[in-house]
Amino acid sequence: MFKRVLIANRGEIALRIIRACREMGIETICVYSSADEGGPWLEQATQSICIGPGPSKDSYLRIERIIAAAEVGHADAIHPGYGFLSENAHFAEVCRDSGFEFIGPSPEAMSLLGDKVNCKRLAKQAGTPIFPGTEGGIEDMDEAVQVAKDIGYPVIVKASGGGGGRGMRIAQDEASLRSGVEQARQEAQAAFGNPVVYLEKYLEFARHFEVQVIGDKHGNAVHLYERDCSSQRRHQKLIEEAPAPGVDPAKRDVVCSSAAELIRRAKYSGAATVEFLMDPTQHFFMLEVNTRVQVEHPISEAITGVDIVQTGIRVAAGEVLPYTQADIKVNGHAMEFRINAEDPARNFMPQAGLIETWVPPGGPGIRLDSHVRVGYRVPPNYDSMIGKLIVHAPTREACIRRSLGALGEFKVGPIKTTIPLYQRLLNEPMFTSASHDIKYVERLLVAK
Ligand code: ADP
Repeated sequence: MFKRVLIANRGEIALRIIRACREMGIETICVYSSADEGGPWLEQATQSICIGPGPSKDSYLRIERIIAAAEVGHADAIHPGYGFLSENAHFAEVCRDSGFEFIGPSPEAMSLLGDKVNCKRLAKQAGTPIFPGTEGGIEDMDEAVQVAKDIGYPVIVKASGGGGGRGMRIAQDEASLRSGVEQARQEAQAAFGNPVVYLEKYLEFARHFEVQVIGDKHGNAVHLYERDCSSQRRHQKLIEEAPAPGVDPAKRDVVCSSAAELIRRAKYSGAATVEFLMDPTQHFFMLEVNTRVQVEHPISEAITGVDIVQTGIRVAAGEVLPYTQADIKVNGHAMEFRINAEDPARNFMPQAGLIETWVPPGGPGIRLDSHVRVGYRVPPNYDSMIGKLIVHAPTREACIRRSLGALGEFKVGPIKTTIPLYQRLLNEPMFTSASHDIKYVERLLVAK
């Protein structure tokens, strides 16, 4: 097992990894930017090393500085967390070439699954359900027009190297498809250095369904069932829950198993998420694979009892997955609320500044993953998420009630957070009856 892990991240996920390592007897090194000087999580690490100024491009994204810190601190492995360099295959490769184990997939598996066209091809072979659309990238416009005619409009043009919702174009007819392909190509080239775009059916009404999977270096892979992340705004997830409510158990088992098969075929080790959209008749279509631990991993931990972060470290060190698929059982229902420093009453304006009030909730089934405390100053440089409230209860109904209690107890000030929005959503019939979709939050916000 590793002796010392360098954490190339910040905030709550850095703290989550420190806690996992501590329980495993592993020391930790946190790198940080000067904007994070004095960050509460740094006190929990064995050592912390400043690697540059506030802007991520000068610190958390500087590969050579992170590697230098790993050398200075005598790390033997590097954990990327999520965001920043976590899905950068070049970084994974530099870690390996510099003699540090990258806690995540091999650069080869990451590149294979990170390229959406290649990922879709492999998914098809693995029996993972994909969207109808072009086989690979669009080469011939007339062929694309024919495919769109066959599958029916609307269609969506997407970038193979895409991420963050960029480089996508919805087309309602042939004219908008032709111009959309050109625009998407240019945008994809500029944003991702890869002009390949592909076409698939556009779903107007869908739920976001994703499968947590984890593999080892010995050819084993299991799934930890699914999460529903349909409560979104601008493609950013707000509330996640596990299991997905109201899904036919047989269909769910098939899609979850197919996700595990996909990462097995990719020779993938570590945690990954296979994301799908689910249509109203419960057909699934793969969106993409996220090749890292995700923000919402704790709800899968809650319902399965598996520590995903610790397992990720174990498999990176070469251990065999400590459980088989038959060992994974679902227990109860869990929800996660992303506590963002944003004002929902003012178009989600970011709220950097001093935390003067911080009264966290407690009681059975409540977990709070946060690096925040009174006196902490939220820097303006990074993501607005200041914590994650995870609630676990025997049933979905009980989980909603427990969540309302916990959100009511939770006091944060003077900065505004997304807590009031969640109190509203938990009373929203579309959510409570699970007849929601990925656009319902935006529709509600417009309607007020
Ligand atoms: P990115 O990597 O840029 O996040 P995704 O493939 O995950 O790209 O898609 C981002 C979002 O765009 C999805 O969560 C969904 O809301 C929307 N989207 C993507 N593809 C489709 C589709 N075929 N039909 C409907 N919505 C889609």
